[in-house]
Amino acid sequence: MQLRLNSGWLALVFLAGVFSLLYLWFTLFPGRAVPEAGYYFSAEQVNQGRQYNMSLRLVYICSFLVEVSFLLWLVLSSRVVDLARWVQRATGDSYWGGLLLFFLIIWLSLQFLSVPFNLYSGYFLQHQWGFSTQTFGAWWVDYFKSAGLGLFLSIVGVVLLFWAINRWPGTWWLACAAFVSLWFVIQTFFWPVVIAPLFNRFTPSKDPAVLSMVHELSEKARLPVSQVLIMDASRRTTKANAYFAGLGRTKRIVLYDTLLADYPLDEVKAVVAHEMAHWNRGHIIRGLALGILGNFFLWGILFVLLRSSVTQFTRYPPHVLALILLFFLLASFAGTPLQNYFSRGMEVEADQVAVSLTGDVPAALRLQVDLAARNLSDVAPSAFMHWFSYSHPSALNRIKLIQHAGDDSLSSNLSR
Ligand SMILES: [Zn+2]
Repeated sequence: MQLRLNSGWLALVFLAGVFSLLYLWFTLFPGRAVPEAGYYFSAEQVNQGRQYNMSLRLVYICSFLVEVSFLLWLVLSSRVVDLARWVQRATGDSYWGGLLLFFLIIWLSLQFLSVPFNLYSGYFLQHQWGFSTQTFGAWWVDYFKSAGLGLFLSIVGVVLLFWAINRWPGTWWLACAAFVSLWFVIQTFFWPVVIAPLFNRFTPSKDPAVLSMVHELSEKARLPVSQVLIMDASRRTTKANAYFAGLGRTKRIVLYDTLLADYPLDEVKAVVAHEMAHWNRGHIIRGLALGILGNFFLWGILFVLLRSSVTQFTRYPPHVLALILLFFLLASFAGTPLQNYFSRGMEVEADQVAVSLTGDVPAALRLQVDLAARNLSDVAPSAFMHWFSYSHPSALNRIKLIQHAGDDSLSSNLSR
C-alpha cells in the first residue's frame, strides 16, 4: 500500500518549509542589533550573544531539516513499503512485532541522524563558549538516559495509538487526545519527583538568608511555599536559571546552585518572586489547559490527514508510523510560534507581578542584564526570531517591561 500526500500534507510541508527558510535566513542575516541594546550591554556582549546563538540556531535548523528530509524521503519513495514488508517477514507476520520492529528502526535512524547535532550543540559548543562543566563520558551518560526514557515512553505511546486505531477506527483521535491529555497531567505532577531526580540532585535550601527572603515573599504573595530546592546544575553548566514545577503536593520552586553562587541576594529574590508570580497566577494550570487544547486540535488534524493518505481504516500497516512521525515533527515545528506566543504572555505577567511583590525595580533590571550577559543571550534578536523562537521576551524587552511595571506601581502608590 503506497502512501499519498495530498493538499493538506502539502500545506503543512509548505508552512514548515517557509518557516525553516525564514529561520535560516534570519539566523545567517540577523540584521543590525537595535541601538538601545547599547544602553545596557557592551558591544562585545551583544556580539558574543549573537554569535553563540547563531551557532545554536544553525545546528537546530539543520538537525530539523535533516530529520524531515529523511522522513519525507522514506514516505515518498517506495522504501517505506519495502521496509514494512521486510519487518513483517522478519517477525513472522506478527502485527505487533512488525510494528515495534519498524518503529525501532525508524527511531534508531532518527537518533543516528540527530546525535551529531546534539553532540555539537550540547557538548562541543558549550565547551567552546566556556559553559560546560561536563566530561565527554558524562554527556553520553545523560544522552543514553534521556534516549532510553524517550524510547520506553514512545513504545508505550505507539502501542496505545495503534491499539486505539484498531479499536475505534472512527474516533481514535479523540481517545488518543484524551490519553495524551491525561499523560500531560500525570507528567506535570510526577515529573519533578520521578524524572528530574534521574538527572540532578535536589536539596532543600538551608541558607537562612534565602529562607527568610522566601518566607517574606511567600507571605506577601499569600502562597504556602514549602519547597525551595537547590539543583546541582553546576555538574553540567555555569549558566544560571530557576524554574517552578509540579502540581498540588509536588509543587516546588527550583533554583540552580549556579544562581545562588554567582548572583547577589536581591537578584535571587527577583528570580524567586518571578517564579512565585507564575505560581500565583496559575500558569502551570493555564499552560496545561492550552497544551490539552492544542493536543486535541493536533490529533484531529492527524486523523483527517491520515484518512486522506491511507486507504484502509483499521489495522494500519507499520509504515503509517513514518507518516505519523513526520506529522508530529512538522506540526510541532510549525506550532512553535503559537506556543511561544502564549509562553511570552505568561512571562510578561510574571515579571510584572514579581516587581509588585519585591518593589525592587533596580534589582529586577540588574538581574535581566546579568542573566543575559552571563548566559550569552541574544539580547536584540530580529523580529522574526523573537516571534518564532523566544519563549521569554528578549532581555531588552523584559528590561523595558520591568521599567514600565515599575513606573505603573510607583504611580499607583502615589495616587493611593
Ligand atoms: Zn518565567
